[in-house]
Amino acid sequence: MVFKCQENSFLKEFTSKVVSCKEVELNTVINGKKEDIKGYELILEDTILFPEGGGQPCDHGYLNEVPVKLVVRKEDIAIHYVDKPFNIGDDVKQNVDWERRFDHMQQHSGQHLITAIIEKEFGFATASWWLGEEISHVELDTPSITPEQIKNAERIANELIRDGKNVTVKVYTKDTPEEQLKEARSTRGLPADHKGDIRVINIEDVESTMCCGTHVKNLSQLQVIKLLHAEKSKRKDKIFLYFLVGNRVINRLETCIDREQKMTVLLKNNPSEHTDLVDKLLKNVKTLSKNLQTVLKDVAVTEAKNLKILDPPPKYFFLHRKEAEPDFMNVLIKELGRTDIFLFLSTGDEKTVGNIVLYGEEKYVSDLGNQICEMFKGKGAGKGNKFQAKVTKMVNRKKAEQYISDYFKDK
Ligand SMILES: [Zn+2]
Repeated sequence: MVFKCQENSFLKEFTSKVVSCKEVELNTVINGKKEDIKGYELILEDTILFPEGGGQPCDHGYLNEVPVKLVVRKEDIAIHYVDKPFNIGDDVKQNVDWERRFDHMQQHSGQHLITAIIEKEFGFATASWWLGEEISHVELDTPSITPEQIKNAERIANELIRDGKNVTVKVYTKDTPEEQLKEARSTRGLPADHKGDIRVINIEDVESTMCCGTHVKNLSQLQVIKLLHAEKSKRKDKIFLYFLVGNRVINRLETCIDREQKMTVLLKNNPSEHTDLVDKLLKNVKTLSKNLQTVLKDVAVTEAKNLKILDPPPKYFFLHRKEAEPDFMNVLIKELGRTDIFLFLSTGDEKTVGNIVLYGEEKYVSDLGNQICEMFKGKGAGKGNKFQAKVTKMVNRKKAEQYISDYFKDK
């Protein structure tokens, strides 16, 4: 069956009768998220809400003001999922979420055009395609594509858009005379053993493809095509080529301009100098952080020296340095050079992740190591005089210090 949305993809409102309405519970994926749907499966005599197919996601819309977020195709029937029951035989007013639909039409017709140009110009067939929520891609049957080829394909696509080539849909049924069926048989994407109606999308002077999706009437409605980057697909010798069509190009440009303006305020410089400036800043940060670690190592040495001169020596010593790297603790231990003062050292964020070291006489380390590690929800191990761990709850540091103080009370 050819649905109303396929017959006229520009119909935004339509009325049709309820054929069946059945209560259901369904676990399905909507827009990439798993959702439990409790509601009703509704079948109408005809629909302008496109059920998913041909790589195009389903439409959203309203049936008598009741929202529809999922329409699926079962053989040649469209099933609408709604959360309210409808009476069989009643008239239902359908409204399609036009912004979503027109966006899908732009991406889908755009994909046909990109596929046709790349196959004609470079001989790379399209193995599959994906209409993403923000960005779409074609999977090309080639291990690589050059930046010049991408640029060329984009130029040709935009020239054809400027030429305003017509896009037409033709349906061939079992009643179509054999003479006309012959032309349909040469269509791209048609399996040799295909039975039933054949729906063919033709782009004037470009190509014909068998497809069930909704399409624009004229390439000028695509406005513009921007081919983005290519990357290796998960399948061998295939690549993904990412693209944006129409409003998505404008939306992306708006986001980029907004980001550029914010960067200009932050960097106080011309956009043309942003990358150089960020590169310089990153190098500076690297040097500064290296210098900081050198200074902190000096601090570790000083801390150890101060500890060494205490007479009598303390039973234990605690130290936390949030800016320091774990090596800070090793420098301190090495400089101290003795095990009779029990050390509890830590580095990293005050509340969340960091590193801890317990160091001292073997029996104390083995008594305390695992318990302190547990308090910090950490992962670590001890050997001889030392227990070290990566931890996730640095917020418990005071509690751990109290625990160690109590432990040493009668030692
Ligand atoms: Zn298609």
